[in-house]
Amino acid sequence: MKTKLLYHQNSYMFECTAKVVAVEGDEVALDATVFFPGGGGQMPDHGTISWHNRQNEGNVIALNKRDDVVWHTLDCLPPPVGTEVVGTIDWDFRYHMMRTHTALHILCGIIFREFGVQVTGGQMYPDRARMDFAMDDLSKERIAYIEEKINEAVKADYPIRIYTLPREKAFTIPDLIRTKINLLPPEIEEVRIVEIVGLDLQADGGTHVHHTKEVGGIKITKTENKGKINKRLEIRLED
Ligand SMILES: [Zn+2]
Repeated sequence: MKTKLLYHQNSYMFECTAKVVAVEGDEVALDATVFFPGGGGQMPDHGTISWHNRQNEGNVIALNKRDDVVWHTLDCLPPPVGTEVVGTIDWDFRYHMMRTHTALHILCGIIFREFGVQVTGGQMYPDRARMDFAMDDLSKERIAYIEEKINEAVKADYPIRIYTLPREKAFTIPDLIRTKINLLPPEIEEVRIVEIVGLDLQADGGTHVHHTKEVGGIKITKTENKGKINKRLEIRLED
């Protein structure tokens, strides 16, 4: 049993028809889904699953990816195995997540290009995102400089390419090695790559926009010291 991950093939797809392949309690497994189940700092989608020409509809209130299957938790009695359903995500939320996720990768790329500094973690929220990295000096001037550079990168409108590489190939690319690609579980044979062409390259399972211009303006809203050299930056998107 395997769910076709439509969100990986086309992040702009907000609706799909699919078939129920398994039911466990209030969880439904589909043969294909547009619902991003969460991970890598990106929040899971929400939305609805409907069936019988939308006479029945439930809200997807949680998502879990177990092995190769995406499970959708419904707030109603789930449809039986074999039912054809329509899955629809909350597109406003998802598109905002896509813009925010790409914004974080822009930030990663700039911080590395300008300071040679490695990102240690990140998290996205509906209205903001944060990123942690090791840098001893994060002065006001430096923050203003980073903000200027990330917005320049947005305006430069870099394309974003998504593709997969065989594991052995990925492990030879310096830009990927620095992003701790070695932490990928050994059973993963194909590595999904998100490349902001000319700026950033990462192994990543998230959903992204096609061009950096779609991100819009990025504002650095908060900085925090997290230990001696660990710093945290919080960003917000401007429409
Ligand atoms: Zn990412």
